[in-house]
Amino acid sequence: MRGVTPMLGTSIAAIHTGLLPEIVRVEADVNSGFPRFSIVGLPDSAVTESRLRIRSAFRNSGLPFPQGRITVNLTPASFRKRGSTLDLAIAVAILRAACILPADDGSLAFLAELRLSGDLAPVENAVGLALRLAGDHLGALFLAKSQKTPLELAQFLPTVHCSRLSDVIAAVRDGHHTITCAAQAHATTSTSLEDDSMLGAFDRIIGRGEEKRLLSIAAAGRHPLLMIGPPGIGKTMLATHLVHLLPDLDHHAALAAYAAAEAADGPPLLTRRPPLRAPHHSLTVAGMIGGGNPPHPGEVTLAHEGVLLLDELFEFQRATLDALREPLVNRAVHLSRAGRTATLPANFLLVATANPCPCVQRGYGDCRCLESDVRRYWARCSGPLLDRIPLVAYLNREDYKATSQSRTPSAKELRRRIETARGILGVHTQPPSSPAASWLEAPAEALITRLKERLLLSERVSQQTLGIARTIAALDGRHTARKADVEEAVLLRNRGNP
Ligand SMILES: [Zn+2]
Repeated sequence: MRGVTPMLGTSIAAIHTGLLPEIVRVEADVNSGFPRFSIVGLPDSAVTESRLRIRSAFRNSGLPFPQGRITVNLTPASFRKRGSTLDLAIAVAILRAACILPADDGSLAFLAELRLSGDLAPVENAVGLALRLAGDHLGALFLAKSQKTPLELAQFLPTVHCSRLSDVIAAVRDGHHTITCAAQAHATTSTSLEDDSMLGAFDRIIGRGEEKRLLSIAAAGRHPLLMIGPPGIGKTMLATHLVHLLPDLDHHAALAAYAAAEAADGPPLLTRRPPLRAPHHSLTVAGMIGGGNPPHPGEVTLAHEGVLLLDELFEFQRATLDALREPLVNRAVHLSRAGRTATLPANFLLVATANPCPCVQRGYGDCRCLESDVRRYWARCSGPLLDRIPLVAYLNREDYKATSQSRTPSAKELRRRIETARGILGVHTQPPSSPAASWLEAPAEALITRLKERLLLSERVSQQTLGIARTIAALDGRHTARKADVEEAVLLRNRGNP
């Protein structure tokens, strides 16, 4: 065909593969062969159909569709590309190949579906895709004007919202993409009212000083916690309150939590408050850690930066509980699917509740269970999982007379102490683990050494005890753990018997 200069155009986009967003580079080759438009690189039918949408969008935008043979390649070719998310990126690559747009300098990304009219339409999972692109140091992301994104996203990747394909062309040509149009962005959802009412509900819990302290220690050190007691003792109520003691998330953590929820349940509201997930005990392994078909992030990822509450722990299937071991140790899950591995974040705080025995009265009333029944009941939860729950507490019966007089710290006060403690512990990345570190005062170290010898504490148990002791010190605003902190930690670890 005359008038067509053989040319290669490229563009950048991202798609969701079900578990993780992946960056896709689009290459378009326009040459003077027999007129034909083909897309290669594992496209599904919706991607292949984009040929029709793009052709009509060009015509209805008054753009000449390039004559000759057009080959679009989606790289990497190792995973299937689904949906219409790549429409705009493919159109831009063709416009660059046809010299209608200047060549790609690698600074812009494009995420929008094209309508036949040339209008841009929103795509699914835009925040997760945008965060993935932001990690690649891009200058701006083009989205449909109707695409709703949280304002906070602009801190990580400036967005340009356009109504039509012709607007995109004008903005890219004129370099107007440096101007961020956030007119259509979500207003940040204020959750302060809801948060205040939750904090108020916590403050209306009379007494319960020991339990509130336990929740604070779990929250500050991200120590998994199992609360045991008969029905009606308030264990589920207390476990539900744990999330309200966690400090607010920073913008990136809030957006990451948003992206996980967006992939699972559709666009949520952006909130600075950490998530609380309380799945039903019929949950499958795939529901817990992610996977399935189509692939889906699991509860451990949806609880990232927040709380995973397993109410009635022993009612869960054993395989589902076993699957928790990896995320509890690594704070992430590794999933293999069709030869590819995805690593999903899973830095959650585990809180679980359980009855003490099948008749629910052991330690609280007349237990009618045989020893063997109780052993079998506890065996429903695997030993290796219980080993990773350092805080196991039998709750006290409410004693209003004894506790109603004593003032307990308010939820706001506890949250403030927990935030300070987390700063001291640096637990945002790692749990406190290393023993005999410089943060341990000499008498405290002598005590733990003595306990190890006398009680034959395993290395894991003594490390967990030290971790709790360090958290106790940090909650007090101290960088070093004293002997009294170790003593309290030992008592907390030994509350495993009523
Ligand atoms: Zn019993």
